[in-house]
Amino acid sequence: MSPTSGLVTAHALPSYLQADHLGPWGTYLQQVDRVTPYLGHLARWVETLKRPKRCLIVDVPIELDNGTIAHFEGYRVQHNTSRGPGKGGVRFHQDVTLSEVMALSAWMSIKNAAVNVPYGGAKGGVRVDPRLLSRGELERLTRRYTSEIGLVIGPTKDIPAPDVNTNEQIMAWMMDTYSMNVGETATGVVTGKPVHLGGSLGRREATGRGVFTLGVEAAQHIGLPIEGARLAVQGFGNVGGVAAKLFAAAGARVVAVQDHTGSLYREAGLDVAALLAHVQAQGGVGGFAGAEPLANDAFWGVDCDILIPAALEGQITAANAGQIQARMVIEGANGPTTPEADDILHDQGVLVLPDVIANAGGVTVSYFEWVQDFSSFFWSEDEINARLVRILKEAFAGIWQVAQEHKVSLRTATFIVACQRILYAREMRGLYP
Ligand code: GLU
Repeated sequence: MSPTSGLVTAHALPSYLQADHLGPWGTYLQQVDRVTPYLGHLARWVETLKRPKRCLIVDVPIELDNGTIAHFEGYRVQHNTSRGPGKGGVRFHQDVTLSEVMALSAWMSIKNAAVNVPYGGAKGGVRVDPRLLSRGELERLTRRYTSEIGLVIGPTKDIPAPDVNTNEQIMAWMMDTYSMNVGETATGVVTGKPVHLGGSLGRREATGRGVFTLGVEAAQHIGLPIEGARLAVQGFGNVGGVAAKLFAAAGARVVAVQDHTGSLYREAGLDVAALLAHVQAQGGVGGFAGAEPLANDAFWGVDCDILIPAALEGQITAANAGQIQARMVIEGANGPTTPEADDILHDQGVLVLPDVIANAGGVTVSYFEWVQDFSSFFWSEDEINARLVRILKEAFAGIWQVAQEHKVSLRTATFIVACQRILYAREMRGLYP
């Protein structure tokens, strides 16, 4: 036996990387397995994609307003940095786990490579329900979390951004905390900042705008007119709300919406502007007067042309995929569809526009923000939107072509394009040492 054979066979994944087949990391691993046969000689490096480069778990203690000390669990995962610094949002949610953040970081690697922005993939999160915190508590939590992950983030290392339950204010606190620690104002350490603090015009709407832009593009390919199309939208925040507004302005009818506060239906189409104002004031769609309430389970079976899941992962599963009436699903959320559900939708002839391209508008404008911060020269909103649309349409055209060529889904096609880019970089850089 050769002295190294023990090492060569030591391929078992560490326990925290093993697929929990019901969870997002398991979904991601299955997506990678589906693409591996198309990677040619680069498949030699595919194991790289199944192991995040670096996972940091931090304790985030804060003093609550009532004087007690509370501890929260925080994470920052850098999945891959072959093509550039880590990049991806930070989410504050009571259900955040390490394996969820790992999956979200991996999807960022794929997404950034799919639209060809020069980043790897990363993601962060804190296991907390921010609605239960006062503004002061939220600020202390954000600052302590930023300090704890300060070891691994930086304008050329890893650049956080908003995600579920985080916003411009939280990015401003993150930027300030990092800047105080390094002794200089480092605007490029996060994106999604307020416009007057190194943020970019168009960043807040960018994810929803991308969902709309690519939705229109994909609809053309399947002969689905947007004028008069019936939309169902899950999640009415920064992604679903903006996408719904743009689709409605283009003549579509938003007939159903759902979020954590309830589900609504209106055959004639909801007044999107009024609903956005309601959500702004009340924190959710529940209680909106201009629609009928809908049973939560009935949402998936609503008669519609386009379904936009724009909330959390794992929403479209083998249990409800069969009920979906839409001709097209546009994934505004990250990871909303399980692999089993993907197959069911495919068999039903539903076109799925996958998260890793559908919601890439956000990180694309994050890239513009980062470039603007480095050059201290800011672009007009028209220029930003024009560049965004151009990048997304070009990426989509390439992916559509790969899907036709290999007769695969748009998800697998996006993974083919992205994994080839990442693994090519991996190969050219070579292993260190
Ligand atoms: N959180 C967003 C996403 O999932 C944006 C990330 C970014 O801008 O870095 O794509």
